[in-house]
Amino acid sequence: MTDIRYLAPRTLDEAVGAFAASQGAARILAGGTDLLVQMRNGAVRPGTIIDIKKITELTSIEEAADGGFRIGAAVSGAALAEHPRFGRVWPGVLEAVNLIGSTQVQGRASPGGNLCNASPAGDSVPALVAAGAVVTVQGPKGRRQVAVEAVPAGPGRTNLGPGEIVVSFTLPPRPEGSGDAYLRMTPRTEMDIAVVGVGVSLTLRDGVVAAARVGLGAVAPTVLLVADAARALIGSRLDEAAVHAAAAACRAACNPIDDKRGTIAYRTRVAGVLLQRAVAIAAERAGRV
Ligand SMILES: Cc1cc2nc3c(=O)[nH]c(=O)nc-3n(C[C@H](O)[C@H](O)[C@H](O)COP(=O)(O)OP(=O)(O)OC[C@H]3O[C@@H](n4cnc5c(N)ncnc54)[C@H](O)[C@@H]3O)c2cc1C
Repeated sequence: MTDIRYLAPRTLDEAVGAFAASQGAARILAGGTDLLVQMRNGAVRPGTIIDIKKITELTSIEEAADGGFRIGAAVSGAALAEHPRFGRVWPGVLEAVNLIGSTQVQGRASPGGNLCNASPAGDSVPALVAAGAVVTVQGPKGRRQVAVEAVPAGPGRTNLGPGEIVVSFTLPPRPEGSGDAYLRMTPRTEMDIAVVGVGVSLTLRDGVVAAARVGLGAVAPTVLLVADAARALIGSRLDEAAVHAAAAACRAACNPIDDKRGTIAYRTRVAGVLLQRAVAIAAERAGRV
């Protein structure tokens, strides 16, 4: 058995330095709920593991004066659920994060790991896409910001450069009359992977949709931002025609795999159904933000 070096830096600069110096031989460890499974089954054999859970910026949650949130990439689902305000402002994002695994998994698993694992079925990603979350990334060339939907490149692949680490997610301030929701379809009720996941975020003004975003998961090689679905909702009073048009846009965006857990026809149909249900929940929540 080959030795594995374990590093637990206290600063982001140290982590980035060690990650870049490893020239691809190291892996970042956040919760480890994907990484350790992949190491055990031999899919990944890192020479060095860089544990980022001891870096304050990556494990803290901050609400800005303007009402926006900054969530460290390595914050656990359990820590996010315990935050006194986050779930009130972003209930859809929180329910997506809290669908990941069991109570034990929740104590470790992070939204950063969910994003960087780059599974098309990662539950937190469509909700973060719908939320308009911006990802801060730090690497050997410095810091940059990128939309969350621009991070995944395909199953198991990201657009992160060599030595780059996801630092945090920034969620924008929430105007009055806003609500979000995340729904997924799984063949089993617990501990299963989504065959479709839909995140919706809406802002209503006098009953009219002023802003909308839709994220769609598990139906394409990457999680998708479905701009056509949002366009169908914006300016409407969420009448049947507008919601049906948004559902049709979600179905049109689908390019799913066909496997024992869901056929192409099934996944495509369910995408439209979940969109309609998530819109109804987000709209109901928009009434009480
Ligand atoms: C029993 C079980 C049930 C699960 N159920 C679900 C589920 O219902 N839904 C779901 O979506 N997932 C599920 N998962 C998968 C997993 O828990 C999630 O993907 C989780 O969010 C991963 O987070 P983590 O912090 O554990 O990531 P890790 O395992 O630490 O990392 C995952 C990958 O991302 C990289 N990485 C991590 N953080 C960063 C960073 N900040 N910057 C750059 N790269 C980084 C790592 O190197 C690794 O390649 C389940 C896993 C298990 C074991």
